[in-house]
Amino acid sequence: MGSAVDVAAALRGRSTVLLTSHARPDGDAVGSTMALALALESLGVRTVPMLADPAPEPYRAFPGVDRIVIGAAATEPADAAVILECSDISRPGISGLDRYFVVNVDHHLGNTSYGAVNWFDGSACACGEMVADIIDALGVKWTPEIATHLYLAISTDTGGFRFGPISARTFEICRRLVEAGIDPSALSRQIFDSYSIGRVRLTGALLDAMELHHGRRFAVLAFDDALLARCGATIDDTDGLVNLPLGAREVLAVALFKAAGDGTWRVSLRSKGRVDVRSVAIRWGGGGHTNAAGLTVPGPLAAAKAAVVEALGAALADAGE
Ligand code: 5GP
Ligand code: MN
Repeated sequence: MGSAVDVAAALRGRSTVLLTSHARPDGDAVGSTMALALALESLGVRTVPMLADPAPEPYRAFPGVDRIVIGAAATEPADAAVILECSDISRPGISGLDRYFVVNVDHHLGNTSYGAVNWFDGSACACGEMVADIIDALGVKWTPEIATHLYLAISTDTGGFRFGPISARTFEICRRLVEAGIDPSALSRQIFDSYSIGRVRLTGALLDAMELHHGRRFAVLAFDDALLARCGATIDDTDGLVNLPLGAREVLAVALFKAAGDGTWRVSLRSKGRVDVRSVAIRWGGGGHTNAAGLTVPGPLAAAKAAVVEALGAALADAGE
């Protein structure tokens, strides 16, 4: 549905474009937003990059990230709003977006086509892959700054080139990113190895308390503010920790429960191969991809865990595991 050419045609000639992505942004959200913002600016378009929450700490020094407006309501005059990486218009956590000419660019199954222009591509390993095509369709040269953000998007959404629909297109884009001047190993150190000691301590605490279910095929992790404080970690330090139990051969799926503070729990799900965690997430109104999804469940934690463990059992059975 839709194409990079449609999106480029919808954006060319606009004077001001607002760009946003989902709340609690990850590398793909930040990288896609900033790569497209920088490309549009090179064409003389004024841009307003805006997110509900700040970028994770390791990405804050990336080009232009300090210009991202953090807010819960979009009021800036703009003649288009590009919403990246969001299956529905509530995912940004920003009110007022429906008042703009909305351009919806996403790679999540279940996208609700909420834009005036919609481009969905479930075969993209990251929204950043789609943004690379849009930048080409706009005829903008990939600067080192743009390339940095595209690499951020692609390397994080694939967990360092380990999961998701990684394709020849992924590596063709990455080949061009290196030609555009990025240093992949230095950038990867900045992206993956720039957390705090608190994160490393939290890693130990989480894994120490890991629960295993369904014959060790399903691992459950959980944290709340008290555990973060004990480890000297912040919520920023938790990005990607959900993947750790997948390092064990027999673990096929993981759930990481985070206390939301209002009695509910945010759950991040990850899986290997055919185990479809999106099918689990949508039971609670969440969503995502086959191997990475998220949802919110009511507490208390023990009941929330039991319900997710049960749902995951069905996903394992459906996958023939
Ligand atoms: P994460 O666990 O990193 O928050 O999310 C994993 C994947 O699931 C991401 O692709 C994210 O966009 C998607 N996702 C997470 N939570 C939700 C949710 O509540 N609703 C929907 N539709 N997708 C979600
Ligand atoms: Mn993504």
